[in-house]
Amino acid sequence: ETEDERTSQAGQLFENFVQATTCKGTLQAFSILCRQLELNLLDHRDFYSSLKAAITYWKAKGLWGKLDKRASHKEYSKGKACADTRCLIIGGGPCGFRTAIELALLGAKVVVIEKRDTFSRNNVLHLWPYTIHDLRNLGAKKFYGKFCAGSIDHISIRQLQLMLLKIALIVGVEVHVNVEFVKLLEPPEGQGTDGPGWRAEVRPAGHPISNYEFDVIIGADGRRSTLDGFKRKEFRGKLAIAITANFVNRNTTAEAKVEEISGVAFIFNQKFFLELKEEAGIDLENIVYYKDNTHYFVMTAKKQSLLDKGVIINDYIETERLLASDNVNQEALLSYAREAADFATNYQLPSLDYAINHYSQPDVAMFDFTCMYASENAALVREKHGHQVLVALVGDSLLEPFWPMGTGCARGFLAAFDTAWMIKGWAQGKEPLDLLSERESIYRLLPQTTAENISKNFEQYTIDPATRYPNLNSTCVRPHQVRHLYINGEQGLSSLGRSGPTRTSVRPSRLLLWCQKQTQGYRGVDVTDLTTSWRSGLALCALIHRQRPDLIDFDSLNEADCAKNNQLAFDVAEREFGIQPVTTGKEMNAEQGPDKLIMVLYLSKFYEMFRNSPQ
Ligand code: FAD
Repeated sequence: ETEDERTSQAGQLFENFVQATTCKGTLQAFSILCRQLELNLLDHRDFYSSLKAAITYWKAKGLWGKLDKRASHKEYSKGKACADTRCLIIGGGPCGFRTAIELALLGAKVVVIEKRDTFSRNNVLHLWPYTIHDLRNLGAKKFYGKFCAGSIDHISIRQLQLMLLKIALIVGVEVHVNVEFVKLLEPPEGQGTDGPGWRAEVRPAGHPISNYEFDVIIGADGRRSTLDGFKRKEFRGKLAIAITANFVNRNTTAEAKVEEISGVAFIFNQKFFLELKEEAGIDLENIVYYKDNTHYFVMTAKKQSLLDKGVIINDYIETERLLASDNVNQEALLSYAREAADFATNYQLPSLDYAINHYSQPDVAMFDFTCMYASENAALVREKHGHQVLVALVGDSLLEPFWPMGTGCARGFLAAFDTAWMIKGWAQGKEPLDLLSERESIYRLLPQTTAENISKNFEQYTIDPATRYPNLNSTCVRPHQVRHLYINGEQGLSSLGRSGPTRTSVRPSRLLLWCQKQTQGYRGVDVTDLTTSWRSGLALCALIHRQRPDLIDFDSLNEADCAKNNQLAFDVAEREFGIQPVTTGKEMNAEQGPDKLIMVLYLSKFYEMFRNSPQ
């Protein structure tokens, strides 16, 4: 076998992988490729460079160029930023894979588990200009030549999943399909930091993945996230019933001529909706039509017209009952959606035959969007038996999109980048409360982010949130407000430090300086040391008052009531900030003042919590 033959064979195998059209086909082509080239799939650190070295044929060059450029972002520190971080991503949807790619570029060991082995969603996602730019820079066109050609700004979910799967594999992500996440497993007791860490229980039980240990777990498993510890908040709007429909696209000239309908343009076209109602009895609030592998329509329909047309059989107040399958006439739904599609495209689509879905049925579906969910928080840290794990949500698990507006993927990718940024901080040893408060500060921007208000300088986008959000304030949530997101099985004084029980990271001299600054100007307070200066309790009360004036009425305090003042401060700090008292109000009042070590320990909790407060 000559060198040329080897190069061309490797090129052909790579081409088979690039052109694969299904999830299973892709994984198979990839494993053949790796076997032939003797690439070690488990060697995530060098995988990409070994693959690149082996595939030298001309067609791959453009892709390597793009991926090299992405990988050269300074944030990744040449793939060393997260070199020792092991991440599990639950769910191989677009957001799971997009997150996986970023973490692999940071140098982390990344595993994606997906419970299914087919990508079958015909439905089409609207892409914001930045997402198109992002995907192009990852080589989207090499995998899907038609990607966003001309003015097209959408892609079917399955095509997107497929290309992201391929990119993830190339950058060294380990992907397992037919593996379902069940729950997080705590590290076993009694073995300390030397024992095994956090693991995942999966189905099928006994899959090798169940032996892996992880430092980071990411829920990317769609709207019904399985991860514990995330409260969901509900946005209840007015009743909104959405219908999606996919029709076969035969790619004829006649079909090609029919114009797409972008939601935003049509929402304001009242005349169209009135005519549709008068002519066909179909009452819609909006409709979107995208041409892709299928002719895809998504519309929101008014309940009364669905009742009138016999799509919904009985009227119930509770939407769950209203849209339950035994209350929906499937035939009537098929005609309703077809009629709406026909009217909206001015009867120009020659034949509206339904495409077939995953269940071998005509691809039409009706969903309730009256209530949409978002997670209250984006991340949390769990600590048990000396092991910590960072748990985060991305994509629909974090913030559910309203399909007719198609914000899912755009906001989902932003959250993927923000999460990667947090994991970089985690790998750098940032304190949990600092890390979580920054993440929550950034998450607050996400629901308000639109294609219009996001930074327009796409070329500058990196995982650093400052490159994407123009009005970023990454300290609007304070560390003490995310205390509940640091979940420690062994509650106590140790619960605030990242690195072990009694370690205080701040030097006493620095702590003293900080306390002096915080308590400056308060009546009866003059902090000159970490013992006697605290006797009267006024200094502690001042420290709290500086952060939260609403918690203590400082002017009403009497300097002589030492025990009472101290007890008040202890109680408030415990209740409001979760800082546990280390001594009693009475002991604080001792002749020689409180014990210095105890005070250093106690005051450093305030320091950790408030040192970043803008004062
Ligand atoms: P998803 O795309 O939902 O992916 C989650 C993945 O996790 C899935 O592949 C799932 O199989 C897997 N998974 C779930 N649980 C587990 C588990 N326990 N273990 C392992 N894997 C698991 N958006 C629109 O804009 N327009 C539409 O028309 C539209 N239609 C949709 C139709 C359906 C049926 C669904 C589910 C979503 C639709 N969306 C639509 C939403 C859109 O798909 C998402 O916003 C987008 O795909 C990004 O989502 P994601 O990656 O966070 O999650």
